[in-house]
Amino acid sequence: MLELSTPVKYVKGVGPRIADVLAGKGIYTVGELLQYFPFRYEDRLNPRGISELRPGEMATVVAEVRNSGLFRTRRMPIFQLTVGQGRTRLRCLFFNATYLQDKFVPGQMIALYGKVEQDERTRELQIIQPQFEILGDPGDTENGAEKKAAESLEIGRIVPIYEAIGRLTPRWFRKTIHTALENLAPDVPDPIPAAVRSHLGLVTPRTALWNVHWPEPGESLEQLQSFRTPAHVRMIFDELFFVELGLELKRRQQKAQTGIAFKLDDRARAAIKRILPFHPTPAQKRVLKEIAADMEKPYPMRRLLQGDVGSGKTIVAFEAAIIAIENGFQVALMAPTEILAQQHFFSAQKILENAGYRIVLLTGSLEADRKRDTRRHIAQGNAQLIIGTHALLQEKVEFGNLGLVIVDEQHRFGVMQRLKLMKKSGEASEGLPEVKDSPAKQSSAILAAEPDVLVMTATPIPRTLALTLYGDLDLSVLDELPPGRTPIVTRCVSDDRSPEVWEFVRKQVTAGHQVYVVYPVIAENEESELKAAIKMYRELSGVIFKDLKVGLLHGRLDADLKDQVMRMFQKGELQILVATTVIEVGVDVPNATVMVIEHAERFGLAQLHQLRGRIGRGAAKSYCILMTGGKVTEEAQRRLDAMVRTNDGFKIAELDLELRGPGEFFGTRQAGLPSFRVANIIRDAQLLEAAKQEAAFVLAGPNSEISSEEISRALVQMRARWQHTYGLVEVG
Ligand code: ADP
Ligand code: MG
Repeated sequence: MLELSTPVKYVKGVGPRIADVLAGKGIYTVGELLQYFPFRYEDRLNPRGISELRPGEMATVVAEVRNSGLFRTRRMPIFQLTVGQGRTRLRCLFFNATYLQDKFVPGQMIALYGKVEQDERTRELQIIQPQFEILGDPGDTENGAEKKAAESLEIGRIVPIYEAIGRLTPRWFRKTIHTALENLAPDVPDPIPAAVRSHLGLVTPRTALWNVHWPEPGESLEQLQSFRTPAHVRMIFDELFFVELGLELKRRQQKAQTGIAFKLDDRARAAIKRILPFHPTPAQKRVLKEIAADMEKPYPMRRLLQGDVGSGKTIVAFEAAIIAIENGFQVALMAPTEILAQQHFFSAQKILENAGYRIVLLTGSLEADRKRDTRRHIAQGNAQLIIGTHALLQEKVEFGNLGLVIVDEQHRFGVMQRLKLMKKSGEASEGLPEVKDSPAKQSSAILAAEPDVLVMTATPIPRTLALTLYGDLDLSVLDELPPGRTPIVTRCVSDDRSPEVWEFVRKQVTAGHQVYVVYPVIAENEESELKAAIKMYRELSGVIFKDLKVGLLHGRLDADLKDQVMRMFQKGELQILVATTVIEVGVDVPNATVMVIEHAERFGLAQLHQLRGRIGRGAAKSYCILMTGGKVTEEAQRRLDAMVRTNDGFKIAELDLELRGPGEFFGTRQAGLPSFRVANIIRDAQLLEAAKQEAAFVLAGPNSEISSEEISRALVQMRARWQHTYGLVEVG
């Protein structure tokens, strides 16, 4: 008998070699094999008679191979297959399919699936490029009974269609999964508490497993294809529930930890007022209130601040920093790139240094001596605001009394790194030199306190999704841009029109504005693209804009030079900045009103939106020109169209999510979030919401509905899954 936890190699038909292949896809156990769902189903219970087919319909046909052959047209070889039922025949065409030449033998049974079309000339019905499956050869060597059993999995029922993995065909999966189900121990334990089951009307695990793979005859094909049968719902909820349970538990544990209860008194308020260079927007006020309320609580803040590019997150971060500093604590502000860290450092100097705050910049490229000095300042608690990159977590930085961590542009960081930094502050609080007048050092209880964490992201995602996905974070949203912005005009042109574009650029420069010209350099083919970017720069600076001041910025420049170029652009000493995507995040030069993006077809949607966010920061009208060079795929065209159509980051994010799918969009692996096996957070958003609610319900128990044994069983299961399936060990 097989259990869900039995290694997959014990399933009949799976040896050690195949087990290796499956392991490559993350399938190690029987349970995981059973989570390998069919991606669609074919109704071979009522396959269509060829004579009943209608043009335009998607149909499954089971028929016998009559003949097949390759013929060549002027344009390409076409493979033609004719199948029949009795006297009726159906033709199938496969373009460029020389590989099919020896595939079929007359007399074979075959299942076809595809769209029925009518040939324009002959009016005959045909299916072009159908998916097909050879069900049995005329001279099969299998003995009668076995052949019959195999056939019964292939026809006369609703049949699951699996994605092939290497040489493991859909048929192989069908047979193997069927065998696994047949040999599964009779009672599959249900780790979901009875109350939760009944809230959602969930079927038992055993029923769910059988029906997802082998639906009952009456099952709705439409529900099957959309993963909405009771069996699918059960399996999907099952996965989401244990992920949400883990997140909810984390959240509770965080709230149970000792944090720092910052005081927001009149002094702190006055300090904030003093630094504000402008009136905050109502959204900024609301968000600061939410953050401040968290900071006042005695447990650690874990808050995500979402705001589109240009919505004014930086000042909110500084305000929060002041609260912490006025309470005698240090603040770490981390950015994803050196340039962005630099940028924050400049703004902080401009806004905070006059008010007497001590700010340091710590990045990887600092000279060893300076680095050591800076470190000492940090460890002794002299530096109040520490701005840096990853270096803050990767190198041995010790903080005197870290109270608040702000992580900017979270989509490039990942949750795990966030956790690492929090750990660091814990370790660092031991054995540090004494710092006088630091309230943080006054009692050992506070010594153990966790710093508050504020994560800022410019990749907005729909609120319900954010709440459920980042279940361990509270959420604030800046949903309003500062006043006085004129919307950016975006145009898409082919690069044969570059002369016009450069002329426009010149006009803008003459009017006193500055311009970015962005060239794609994507890590994979960095060398050659970098060369192209540099060549581009030479042409612009040496020929087209010979009389203007043109600068170049790319990731390979050494830090001092980068710094210098950026400063010059910021001060207006450069009129045109040719740059690679190093400027993607956070760079803030309000006088820049034009961005030309070369080879715009090569950029991702989120990236284009981030880039465009560098302009439209002042009162003057801004223009984003997407220049395409070379072939533009259909998907690339959709990205460009979206950019032209809207400036709204939320809309862009939704579309991006749709185009790329959740896995890529969130970079879940890298972000330290589970990547789901059977769930899809877009398709299953409602179930995700339900799972979150039920997780909260379970952790609020026990009560009359739910016993403490049930809760602990669920928690044991949750831990096992987080560790085994998602490789995450951080849940208590
Ligand atoms: P992001 O959210 O992309 O980090 P920033 O914090 O860089 O945005 O702000 C974008 C620009 O808007 C900056 O030039 C900033 O000084 C300005 N800004 C922010 N808040 C306001 C406000 N309330 N009124 C006027 N300008 C503001
Ligand atoms: Mg920013």
